[in-house]
Amino acid sequence: MNPLAAAVQARREDGLYRSLTPLLHAPAKFIQREGVLCLNCASNNYLDLAGHPRIVAKAREALEEDGSGSGGSRLLGGNLPLHEILESAISKFRPLGSALLFNSGFQANVTLVPALGEALGGIFADKMCHASVAEGLRLASSSVNFHRFRHNDLNHLEDLLKKHQPAGGGLVVTETLFSMDGDFAPLSDLAGLQRRFGFWLLLDEAHSVGGYPGLETQGWGMPERTVMMGTFGKALGSFGAYAAGPVELAEYLINFGRGFIFSTSLPPAVLGANLGALETLDDAEEAWRPEKLQQMANHARSVLKARGLNLGTSQSHILPIHLGTPEKAARISAKLFDTGIHAPAIRPPTVPEGSSRLRLNITAAFTEADVDRLADALSMAVESDP
Ligand code: PLP
Repeated sequence: MNPLAAAVQARREDGLYRSLTPLLHAPAKFIQREGVLCLNCASNNYLDLAGHPRIVAKAREALEEDGSGSGGSRLLGGNLPLHEILESAISKFRPLGSALLFNSGFQANVTLVPALGEALGGIFADKMCHASVAEGLRLASSSVNFHRFRHNDLNHLEDLLKKHQPAGGGLVVTETLFSMDGDFAPLSDLAGLQRRFGFWLLLDEAHSVGGYPGLETQGWGMPERTVMMGTFGKALGSFGAYAAGPVELAEYLINFGRGFIFSTSLPPAVLGANLGALETLDDAEEAWRPEKLQQMANHARSVLKARGLNLGTSQSHILPIHLGTPEKAARISAKLFDTGIHAPAIRPPTVPEGSSRLRLNITAAFTEADVDRLADALSMAVESDP
């Protein structure tokens, strides 16, 4: 058998086969899947901004004025005025000194982790950090040592820092809100540890940005050594990512960030949408969105727990329903689909062996009635599973 087909076949036999789900239109609160209208519990469009009129209008305006492509990398002719306008807006949103755009959060992490880690002499990353951080560590490993600390365990991090004492202070990497477990990093304690040890901190706020205003500053023990990486593709309803950090950061990455240097820059429509998204977050009339997200998430956690479901350590709008085996997760996901609920199974290698789950994402578009319907369908599916 062809080696590619053999690898896919092995995935299938392990119950870990992945395939794409065709959808009939851009995902919103409901999606049309295989002819069935489903409540979408897999959306990262947490603030329901993806179709917001201001964001769409800004994207259209930029497209009509500047065309569909940037024409190159930022360093070789693709540096549009809109890139710089957006970076100024990001620097106001995350006032740490400088900001630089990336084409996606994945590209940002794969670039930031080795580029910063090499300058700072060592990397310490939470074990549950996203795959893009893991790829960044792999890239960094040819030139710098890295260590993984147990998830959210700052005693373990402290032991590793004492043991390895990186000459440049080291880089600590974690997520403000973890993508698969829905729990927050202990940001205030991390800030205290940063003050004691003086490391640089890379906080990936992909899943909290926009949903939890003010959360990030809790982790700024030493703002002059803190870098926030955030994405526009989730709560902000668009695409792309940013790194915001000390004044030296943008210039350093323009010189050493390979994923920045060697890639075509974001196109005008995306830049316009991202500007619209930041304006929307700043608009007092839109403050209901994070409030509603948090209210719906609190309601969901309480009704799901009341039905005896295991939500692990979730504290947010990301609700892992721990089911154990990949087969069980796939069965429950299929049963939910039969009742008009889209909640794909998350299986290894995305999550550790034995922790297959459904990952339910609540958004600001949900109502209490949606959440209650989800809880009823899920508890019935779990109870009737052999
Ligand atoms: N960081 C985390 C924690 C994520 O969950 C993701 C995406 O799922 C990324 C980074 C990558 O972001 P993007 O989707 O913009 O590539």
